Amino acid sequence: MSRIHYTKPSVGELEAQYALDAVQNGWGARCYEYLTRFEHGFAEHLGATYAIATSSCTGALHMGMAALGVGAGDEVILGNTNWIASAAPITYLGATPVFVDVLADSWCLDPQQVRAAINPRTKAILAVHLYGNLCDMDALLAIGKEFGIPVIEDAAEAIGSQWRGRAAGSLGAFGAFSFHGTKTMTTGEGGMFVTSDKALYERVLTLSNHGRVAGCSKQFWPDFVGFKYKMSNLQAAVGCAQVERIEELIARKRAIFDYYARALTVLPGVAMNPQPAHARNGYWMPTVVFEESTGITREALIAAFQAADIDARVFFWPLSSLPMFDVAVDTPVAFALPGRAINLPSYHDMTDADQDRVIAVVRDVLKHKGKL
Ligand SMILES: *Cc1c(COP(=O)(O)O)cnc(C)c1O
Repeated sequence: MSRIHYTKPSVGELEAQYALDAVQNGWGARCYEYLTRFEHGFAEHLGATYAIATSSCTGALHMGMAALGVGAGDEVILGNTNWIASAAPITYLGATPVFVDVLADSWCLDPQQVRAAINPRTKAILAVHLYGNLCDMDALLAIGKEFGIPVIEDAAEAIGSQWRGRAAGSLGAFGAFSFHGTKTMTTGEGGMFVTSDKALYERVLTLSNHGRVAGCSKQFWPDFVGFKYKMSNLQAAVGCAQVERIEELIARKRAIFDYYARALTVLPGVAMNPQPAHARNGYWMPTVVFEESTGITREALIAAFQAADIDARVFFWPLSSLPMFDVAVDTPVAFALPGRAINLPSYHDMTDADQDRVIAVVRDVLKHKGKL
């Protein structure tokens, strides 16, 4: 039996064909062809108006927050359960990430905690749709409107997720996506800034071009210090192929989740990624959270998966517990979750037999605790 990796991109003939064409022909007059096509195709998929391809989601977040005016002394509110990439751009701008607790079922930031954390320094609310799960966008957008604070969506993990029929990443002031090799679609490394706000789009476009205003007749004339977070035309060629296949890529993620859910959510003390009635979950990463009463720990889970030659990924540590932040915050849910949760392998090409091996490990761990 071979090792089951937790993630691996789905790339094939189409990606290879476009990449080869970009290498051979995508220069000179055609140097932006795949980039433009990729931006339009991705924006169209989301139902957003404007898109700017970037070298990473981190870069898209950095430029988008800069364009919103986030700066020294400001605060940006986000869930304490998150990967550092969501918080790092806040610190690049000299602002402070404010970590609030998450909801026990969606693992995404709790709107009531967001409301309680708002003060005159609050410059933005960062809604991260964790593992494909949707933040409560109704509540967050209402809070944003009430206080005049933009809601940003980090939708890196939410390709294919929808809130009331609208794509995650298209609801807030702007959305940021990642096409890192572990994500639902990939360009190797890469990201996208997405918005339907024309003025914000134009600010980020200028920022993304080292501060040069598009269409400025004076050559090599920056108006201010900008950024360089561009995607290459070569990566965009792979992205164009992935956009053509996006419904297939999302459908496969959802099918993998359903297969796990049928076998695992019927077991005692086991919860997985939720999908509220008015939402669709893209299920980037199927995740199992065990009830405290099961006595199951992260360490036992990792050992069991390792023994079965299967990659399992730990649930995100609370950001406030990391050494560079190390602030005291009262977020009991964010601290309780990672100790009894695990991310399951979910790459597109995995077989039913692979999934059965993963399911057997979860069942064994429960059996070992006398719960089955
Ligand atoms: C992957 C990820 C990022 C970072 O994406 P990069 O393209 O590697 O910068 C940011 N936020 C979330 C939620 C992610 O999952």
